[in-house]
Amino acid sequence: MATARETTGVHWSELPCAIEDGDLWFAATSADADRAKELCRTCPLQHSCLQGAIARQEPHGVWGGEVFYEGIVVARKRTRGRPRNGELHQRDLERQARANLRKNTSEAVA
Ligand code: SF4
Repeated sequence: MATARETTGVHWSELPCAIEDGDLWFAATSADADRAKELCRTCPLQHSCLQGAIARQEPHGVWGGEVFYEGIVVARKRTRGRPRNGELHQRDLERQARANLRKNTSEAVA
């Protein structure tokens, strides 16, 4: 697998999600998710990041400038409130997404 630096000339540590507060990408509010989406749009890996997230069916978070929920791109992050069925495991989904991010980041560096 090619590293981020090999494909774009940018080291992973220079990517917006590494520079800014990583919690924005798994934000609890729509405003923070929108901020993460904006930052992704400045990222040289946006297209490949989005394609990878689609392929992996990311369960949660902002990837490649899009919000994912249960493996699909959704228009907006849902607002807070009583969770619907399927949202009750959100913390597990967040943990899985963070683990995926750490795994993908370490693979890009290898
Ligand atoms: S496009 Fe992907 S790699 Fe780039 S800032 Fe967004 S989440 Fe990070």
